[in-house]
Amino acid sequence: MSFGAARDVRGRVLPFPVRDGKAAHIRHAMDAQANNRNCPLCDAPATGAKPLPYAWDGGALVECDQCSLVFLDRLPAQHEFETERAWEVSSVSHAAQRKRDYPILIALHRATRYRMHITKRVPKKMLARRVRPGPIVDVGCGAGINLIPPPAGFTPYGIEISKSLAAAADAAFRAHGGACIQAAGAEGLRGFPRGFFHGALLIGYLEHEFHPLAALTALREALADDAVVVFKTPNYGSINRRLMRKRWSGLRYPDHVNYFTPATLREIARRAGFTTHFGVTGNNPVSDSLWALLRPAPTHN
Ligand SMILES: [Zn+2]
Repeated sequence: MSFGAARDVRGRVLPFPVRDGKAAHIRHAMDAQANNRNCPLCDAPATGAKPLPYAWDGGALVECDQCSLVFLDRLPAQHEFETERAWEVSSVSHAAQRKRDYPILIALHRATRYRMHITKRVPKKMLARRVRPGPIVDVGCGAGINLIPPPAGFTPYGIEISKSLAAAADAAFRAHGGACIQAAGAEGLRGFPRGFFHGALLIGYLEHEFHPLAALTALREALADDAVVVFKTPNYGSINRRLMRKRWSGLRYPDHVNYFTPATLREIARRAGFTTHFGVTGNNPVSDSLWALLRPAPTHN
């Protein structure tokens, strides 16, 4: 399968790639399985969600009238993510497309990052500095690159829904004593003993997750009480999103099904049993990404 550039009537390239050849067929399949979601954070009925000016042929972003979470109103079939719609197919085409269509914007973005001293974070180093050596898990691990090689003393595990990526990660992690489970987030995490992991990475994962609260809740159960989660997601509250509107790099239809601001991330994490810590720059509105550390909330027995 391949992606082609979408063009308007004058032949100008539009901001989003479309599937060529199979496009009509896939859209039809999605329509047939479409169902409007209740809010994936607070479960408020879909009927109360407010439409936002981000819509595609087959889905639109809405904002929950109860908790303000922004999310995609309909989900594509999850089995598509196991194979043809998997991350390895869509992310490469998306990056190449953006570079081709917005060379000046992307150069400006890089310059801004440099000027703002937004340095590149290395998730596994952030994690290894904060947790005890032992088993750690990358949820939505792709081919395993975030944990290969693992920091000294740590055993890498992963959960990944794409079959081909999960197989690659499993081979890579097994060489270091770990494994990758091919499953959706909550389902995969529930296969591990309670309190098993000393830490976790959620890097560009929760925006893809169909059931983000269930996944975070299952993660909390699989983590030790002193564990830390290194977390990254696109920042829907960013200035860039307001300026770029539909061209904002964080918008990925239909791959991103949840969009978090600092407030909605803090709330979904709280409901799952975590406290959220952005540090000094993690929720910088100039950055397209939210970075946070999630820690198990103290329990009162
Ligand atoms: Zn809600």
